[in-house]
Amino acid sequence: MIILKSPEEIKKMGESNSIVAEVLTGLEKRVKPGVTTLELNEYAETITQKRGAKPAFKGYGGFPFALCASVNSEVVHGFPSDRPLEEGDIVSLDYGVCYNNYYGDSAITVAVSGISMSAARLMKVTEESLYRGIEKAREGNRLGDISFAVQSCVEEAGFSVVRDYVGHGIGKNLHEDPPVPNFGMGGRGVKLEAGMVIAIEPMVNEGSYAVKVKPDGWTVETNDGSLSAHFEHTIAITENGPVILSSRT
Ligand code: MG
Ligand code: MG
Repeated sequence: MIILKSPEEIKKMGESNSIVAEVLTGLEKRVKPGVTTLELNEYAETITQKRGAKPAFKGYGGFPFALCASVNSEVVHGFPSDRPLEEGDIVSLDYGVCYNNYYGDSAITVAVSGISMSAARLMKVTEESLYRGIEKAREGNRLGDISFAVQSCVEEAGFSVVRDYVGHGIGKNLHEDPPVPNFGMGGRGVKLEAGMVIAIEPMVNEGSYAVKVKPDGWTVETNDGSLSAHFEHTIAITENGPVILSSRT
């Protein structure tokens, strides 16, 4: 069941998401060779606590950290670790909070420094595909229009979209209906309405879209060892079009 949000609720979700955006902006600045993702996790928790919010992922289904940090061939749900980031790495940082009973959720992929041209292109295309999807998040369109826009942007660039993990509705719960796949057919799926709030989150692999879960039970990585990137925004569908609640600008 899709829970529509009132303008007041969307405003509250804007507040939750602005904390997420602030954390991601701070994290992006801190990503450098030698920094560990555990240090990034600690920073995220500190800022969240200062703002009177709660980290959304910590304890969710038993996930042990506040931040998901997925390096190189890791796709999503990576554990922060004490391995220092190295030049040439890319790291996907996925963060969520709960504030005043409403959730925010957003992700970015950041270059550590001196990354390959192909890694840079992967990141650029993934972010671009997110915005192509957001552009379709309009009243009267269907969910499949978002999915199709993301998928075609990615595949035209020669990359692939992960099938096993998808975006989602969000509100008083971190994950609500509808699931928001990054692949699909235009004109299909539920009709989009003002008041829907969804997290669109393309996960894009350099190689095949096949993924597997590491022995830690959480970290998802590409099957073929190729790089993966992830960008996510929480957006509200309004009468005036899509509004990015987790905008960092
Ligand atoms: Mg997320
Ligand atoms: Mg999400």
